Amino acid sequence: MGSTLGLYHFLHQFGHDVTVISPTNWASFLSWMPGTKVVLDYERETERCNQLLNDAQWVFCLDFNTLSRTKRMEEKLLSFKGERILIDHHQQPQEEVFTYGISDTLKSSTAEMVFDFIKGSGHIKKLSIESAECLYAGVMTDTGSFRFPSTTPGVHRMIADLMESGLQHSNVHEALFDNFTENRFRFIGNVLLHRMEIFYEYNAALISVPQHDLVKYDIKTGDTEGLVNYPLSIQGIKLAAIIIDRGEERKCSFRSKGDFDVNTFARTYFGGGGHFNAAGGQSKESLEDVVNVFKKALKANAEQLCTYTF
Ligand code: 5GP
Repeated sequence: MGSTLGLYHFLHQFGHDVTVISPTNWASFLSWMPGTKVVLDYERETERCNQLLNDAQWVFCLDFNTLSRTKRMEEKLLSFKGERILIDHHQQPQEEVFTYGISDTLKSSTAEMVFDFIKGSGHIKKLSIESAECLYAGVMTDTGSFRFPSTTPGVHRMIADLMESGLQHSNVHEALFDNFTENRFRFIGNVLLHRMEIFYEYNAALISVPQHDLVKYDIKTGDTEGLVNYPLSIQGIKLAAIIIDRGEERKCSFRSKGDFDVNTFARTYFGGGGHFNAAGGQSKESLEDVVNVFKKALKANAEQLCTYTF
């Protein structure tokens, strides 16, 4: 949302006819972002999105490395007749499907790359407050509020530029983090109390969420964002995982500290991928089976999980 809306506001000023399409729904706590009201949800408005794609000249593919990450939208993107342009920071991009692309795994976030793209266009003076707020939200969330190692001096320089252009950064922080629904807050409480297992022998933690919890607390896809980070605050925890039963599939997220490579971990056991310290995957097996795969994977990686080097 941060990178796409940041680019949307920028392109719009030049008279381009721009539409942001999200492959799935998003959490209500993002609705403060300027422009979310006009974002289309591909799963809900497939016909309309397909028509827009039929008529479009360019598609910017932001923040994913392979078209399969867009789930039901993949087929339409593959048959798209115009130019596909990639801006992304994940490993192993599907290079052959993009006419143009920037893929840089050293970048903190796609929002940072969109900022670079705007700067590179020579029109940074045209960056609006709306764009700045969306890009700030993207960088801030992807860097864990500027604490992950991906927070380079360049990121801080970008934020300085945004602030000098009038961004009120604390408003964005409040809009993102002090904007929970009561349901979402209670859901998190329930999860931390009843759904978290700690494996001290492996410096690891797992949260597994059954589907009936999602129904009970009316939890949408994006509402579980960030939950996987909670166990990483426990002393000694090097690997944190969450497995959520979303009905049609079990969605997994992994976060690590230091030298444990969750990109490889997610690729090896959960058909996924991502970054060195943040990755995800999915499975069609039952929640119980996926939890068992995770437990076996812990055993198989015991040596690396037990050595604690930063
Ligand atoms: P999250 O755990 O927040 O869903 O994702 C963490 C990182 O891993 C993100 O950069 C995301 O794009 C990537 N990721 C999540 N799930 C998958 C997946 O199934 N396949 C791949 N290749 N990457 C994923």
